[in-house]
Amino acid sequence: MITESAVNKPQAKKRLFIGLLAVSVIAVLGLAILLWYLMSHPTTVLQQVLLVLLIGSILITLVAVAFGIGGIVLTIWLAKTITPLQPLMRVAMSLLFPVVIGLGHVFNINTDKIKSSFIEVNNQLVRTKEFSLKPEQLLVLAPHCLQKSSCPHKITTNINNCKRCGGCPVDKLLAVRERYGVNIGLATGGTLARKYVKEYRPKAIVAIACERDLVSGIQDSTPIPVLGVLNDRPFGPCFNTQISVPRLEEAIRYFLSAEEI
Ligand code: SF4
Repeated sequence: MITESAVNKPQAKKRLFIGLLAVSVIAVLGLAILLWYLMSHPTTVLQQVLLVLLIGSILITLVAVAFGIGGIVLTIWLAKTITPLQPLMRVAMSLLFPVVIGLGHVFNINTDKIKSSFIEVNNQLVRTKEFSLKPEQLLVLAPHCLQKSSCPHKITTNINNCKRCGGCPVDKLLAVRERYGVNIGLATGGTLARKYVKEYRPKAIVAIACERDLVSGIQDSTPIPVLGVLNDRPFGPCFNTQISVPRLEEAIRYFLSAEEI
């Protein structure tokens, strides 16, 4: 059973992702200096102009990314949204994410650990904003691997086909829908998830998935705020996965206005 303290406990350390982000900037800066060194004796005017343009764009990108990282750290530290820095924060998160994963390989850090850290940072950033949504403005996206593998009912096109036997967490999801009145989409992948987003036009999303799908879902859904809830995989990936209902409800309640809870 998951206790209240377990629900409140962060699922991963935020400083891992932020630290790797900072190292990425230093690595890219190092590359820019190297480029400068290698191209520092151009012979023609055209070469000189191209060189200045190239180095200039690298420096502008670096400054933007540095402000973005600064914005992420400040937002988490002050627990307050810094609206003007939001676009730069998004740029920093998506531009440097592949670099961070690459660095993780170099330092032999588990990729899922880095992705969990990214999800924690994202959740913390989302939680610095205040929301007061109606249930119909919120979409809960869940993976189809929650369905018991032996269940004969086809619920991916219509979750209401579930017979509520209690054999898997789909029953609990439907109970959550009844309790809060939110929209629920059971997705087999990114395409179906995007279809639900188009259909329901949510103002916010609570996404349940594994690290990999949550990271791509969060990046794909930008600028819609997403709170990510990691699924539990007692039988391995993509097979009879489970959810923590308290964590899911806590994320839903965060977005809803007080009178809807
Ligand atoms: S709760 Fe029962 S009927 Fe519904 S999807 Fe799970 S196993 Fe199938």
